[in-house]
Amino acid sequence: MRDIYIYNTLSRKKELFKPVTPGHVGLYVCGPTVYGDPHLGHARPGITYDVLVRLFRHLGYKVRYVRNITDVGHLENDSDSGEDKIAKKARIEELEPMEIAQEYTIRYHDAMRKLNVAPPSIEPRASGHIIEQISLVEKILKAGYAYVSNGSVYFDVKAYDKDHKYGILSGRVLDEMISNTRELDGQGDKHSPYDFALWKKAAPEHIMKWPSPWSEGFPGWHLECSAMSEKYLGSQFDIHGGGMDLLFPHHECEFAQNMASRGTSGVNYWMHNNMITIKGQKMGKSLGNFITLNELFSGANSVLKQAYSPMTVRFFILQAHYRGTLDFSNEALQASEKGLRRIMQAQKDSSRLTADTNAPDNPEMDSIVEKIYEALCDDLNTPVALSYIFDAVKIVNSAKDRQISLNAKDIEKLNTVFTDILGGILGICDEENGDGHQGVVDSLVNMVLEVRKKAKENKDWTTSDRIRDELKQSGILIKDTKEGTEWSFE
Ligand code: ZN
Repeated sequence: MRDIYIYNTLSRKKELFKPVTPGHVGLYVCGPTVYGDPHLGHARPGITYDVLVRLFRHLGYKVRYVRNITDVGHLENDSDSGEDKIAKKARIEELEPMEIAQEYTIRYHDAMRKLNVAPPSIEPRASGHIIEQISLVEKILKAGYAYVSNGSVYFDVKAYDKDHKYGILSGRVLDEMISNTRELDGQGDKHSPYDFALWKKAAPEHIMKWPSPWSEGFPGWHLECSAMSEKYLGSQFDIHGGGMDLLFPHHECEFAQNMASRGTSGVNYWMHNNMITIKGQKMGKSLGNFITLNELFSGANSVLKQAYSPMTVRFFILQAHYRGTLDFSNEALQASEKGLRRIMQAQKDSSRLTADTNAPDNPEMDSIVEKIYEALCDDLNTPVALSYIFDAVKIVNSAKDRQISLNAKDIEKLNTVFTDILGGILGICDEENGDGHQGVVDSLVNMVLEVRKKAKENKDWTTSDRIRDELKQSGILIKDTKEGTEWSFE
């Protein structure tokens, strides 16, 4: 297997990936809190970790990809007070919280499918893992890193910091955090403002609550990921991913919970994708620049000059390295749309090139495939990989214009670039013909044309004309030329 290097947020450097179990990858990614339409911010982690999973699988690893659904415990402003995001939406829309969670889970799945993001292997819900979360709280209490206060349970950050140092993952130092912040009023049941809730006692009117040793209540937001990643991937697994916005406090708290409950951080490589900005600004409802994915696909948002197809969005996201910021603008999206069109045309053209047995090996083609793999295995460098794919596009265009000729080996390499890498790993496929079925359509049409060629050789004009007419009825036009038969969609 090829070596893969991953930038580890914990060590702040690129590291050679060494799996816990040879040939296997355990990956956990924080999924959405399902209380609103999926938006531009959901597309980047969805696509980034999809490419990571596709790359590992392509290289022969068996991947268990766990991406959770947060349907309880995520409070407004990511804090320990305030209303549950899902309960609030349910109250406004006069629905059951589970109706909200169901509705927005479906919309999230739908948007991911359009973006050609493959579903995870396991998609656990926080509300389905209350028992595991209660048992985790019990372990942390027993270890002395939590306290019960008025029916709620809080993680004792100061006690934990003495033994393990709090803030290692995000690079924060507790003493500095304390000296930089004045003690906030209204900490309520907490001993310190840095403590965070493991279990919250529910107010009487709160709908989503469960019995526990401490109160009728609900788990703290950070707890679910510690509980569910351990359950499905084991106490020490390979990779934990998520957006940079989750690094603190969410992942820092997860790290501390893992350490406090099982004595290990739980994760070998922490990966964080950077954010998408809009004209340099963070996207937010209050800033009036909030774009949902459906608006992006339909153009129905005043920020948008036009609709952008899901594949254009995917291509746009992969044109930047996942750790860099990515600024959204109509101009950038329009440029991506153009670039994507060029690549897809080259993909079609390359499948119709005929080999010249006398052509020498193309020196450029020789190194392109290797360079693309190197880029992808170097911390998922998709922009560099795409720049080599554009080199392959140039070769296809020269061959098409008959400026150069390619032998069968070169054409095979083009096939690797446009089918295995572009379609298989980067997940970029032709939208005109649905979800990546272009290759199937191509080979079926080519097969039918082969039968027609035989019929013509046998002067069986009835069959050859029938094939031409029936293809036309299916929307496929054929044209006989000196070189053979060309075809295109009507
Ligand atoms: Zn999480």
